[in-house]
Amino acid sequence: MRTKDSRTVLRGLGGSNAPRLPGALAEWNRQYEAGEKPSALKLKKHFNAIRREQFPWTWDVTKNASDQPFLDLGKAFTAFFEGKARRPRFKSKKRSKASFYLANDQFELGDHRVWIPKLGWVNMAEKPRFHGKVIGARVTRTADWWFISITVAIPDERPEKKHTAVGIDVGLNRLATLSTGEGYENQAFLRTALKKLRQANKRLHRRKPGSKNREKARRQVARLHYRIACMREDVLHQLTSRIAPSYGIVGIEDLNIQGLLKNRRLSLSFSDAALGKFLTLLTSKVEQRGGQVIQVGRYFPSSKTCHSCGWRWEDMDLSDRLFLCQNHHCRYHRVAQDRDHNAALNILREALRLIGYSDQAVTGIGSDEDGNLPADAG
Ligand SMILES: [Zn+2]
Repeated sequence: MRTKDSRTVLRGLGGSNAPRLPGALAEWNRQYEAGEKPSALKLKKHFNAIRREQFPWTWDVTKNASDQPFLDLGKAFTAFFEGKARRPRFKSKKRSKASFYLANDQFELGDHRVWIPKLGWVNMAEKPRFHGKVIGARVTRTADWWFISITVAIPDERPEKKHTAVGIDVGLNRLATLSTGEGYENQAFLRTALKKLRQANKRLHRRKPGSKNREKARRQVARLHYRIACMREDVLHQLTSRIAPSYGIVGIEDLNIQGLLKNRRLSLSFSDAALGKFLTLLTSKVEQRGGQVIQVGRYFPSSKTCHSCGWRWEDMDLSDRLFLCQNHHCRYHRVAQDRDHNAALNILREALRLIGYSDQAVTGIGSDEDGNLPADAG
């Protein structure tokens, strides 16, 4: 959820937390080095004593924006004392994300808007998607946008086991092709965004270091990077959310990241991080519903094999978009099959073989079947 409208006001809020946490860490370090045992409470007292004089602006922001940093710092130091973490460092405006926490009694959600103390109603770019008991919220800033993440408790859904299986080909041409024949296209908008990013990068390097214009250009590049990451993530979420509820068994190639990224066309739509993310999202969403994801070995020739008879087209090239089976006895003999669809069907078959469904049990799974398993399977 992001809010754009009130970001100037919000900057004051988040700012009070992150880069300008008024002297708390310095005071903590002083107490620590003086042999005292600092605590969030002592620190808060110290702060309140000097607040009116030295930090009058903190009265203008919400109570939480100035309370939470002490608690956060307290937590960080507790972890440090217990040997679980490094000693807290001073926050840097460049390195740190500004953020503050609100407990559920300190804000109110409306349709498309949120009420934040001292700020009033702030419009949100998106409605809350989940309904349940609101626990709390954290407001953060990324690439000059403000976000609010709201924690909501929702009852566990009982996973209903699905007796259907699907194979997925992650592709050069299409982002993903399912063994059902459904395809998910690569996104033209991503191409446009990447072009803009290249231009913005060039502009950045033409600007004089340390100048205002350079800072402006730097922020523009950061925002574009962020936007592109969002687009990619959004597509992956949509794709995995559509697949997971429908299939109990999902076969997918062991994504050979290095190999795939050598191909420039693919690396455009898939960064290595995105590929890993795709698999992580898919696995967690499928398993959450009681299903399983099966990875098929990366040397399994999914593209070069006829899914119906197993005939291999050894000379098949990356540019061959159609698979033509040359086996006279095959029912797909010289029938044009979409390359990625054929591959997805092979991946499905191989995945089922790996978990012990023999070929006989799955002969029904062809392009003209819907991938239903025998009733006792799954
Ligand atoms: Zn064939």
